Amino acid sequence: MMAPYSRIFAVARPPRTEVGCGHQLSVPRKTIEMTDLPDSPDPRSTREIVSYHAHVYYDPATTRPEAERLRTWIGERFAVTLGRWHDVKVGPHDQAMYQVAFAAELFSSLVPWLMLNHGSLSVLVHPNTTNPRRDHLVNPLWIGSPVAVHGDKLPDHAAGEQAPSPNTHPVLPP
Ligand code: ZN
Repeated sequence: MMAPYSRIFAVARPPRTEVGCGHQLSVPRKTIEMTDLPDSPDPRSTREIVSYHAHVYYDPATTRPEAERLRTWIGERFAVTLGRWHDVKVGPHDQAMYQVAFAAELFSSLVPWLMLNHGSLSVLVHPNTTNPRRDHLVNPLWIGSPVAVHGDKLPDHAAGEQAPSPNTHPVLPP
């Protein structure tokens, strides 16, 4: 009965050639440096961000009323562009949703407001730069629980999307 254990131990043990020389310490440290630091020597500028989207996800069978209420609240308070209702999955989105397109200047008022008022809904907030795939997968923030995003449906390059003319007429303070 000792044979299976001995076999596992033998496999898990590193080969003798990797043990007991100076490389053992320097190799892991170098690996950490290479994986933790991005390639670019300079940080990206927020000037890359042409506008933002917030995608409000909902379940047509259960949370559409909550999504409707949130949509009304947004429209009453912010000059944004409310997109069409998508009761079925569209593009990279894995759940029903509607889009809220907004100018970069609105981020500091709208996003904190969404943090406080999203209820049970998941909201994806992503920048619009020239790389939609990266905008959605690498650089977004989530309010509520994250939902799957299908990056294969997104291009690596596009013209940065300007915020369209608002279609809301806000009458209340945030
Ligand atoms: Zn979007």
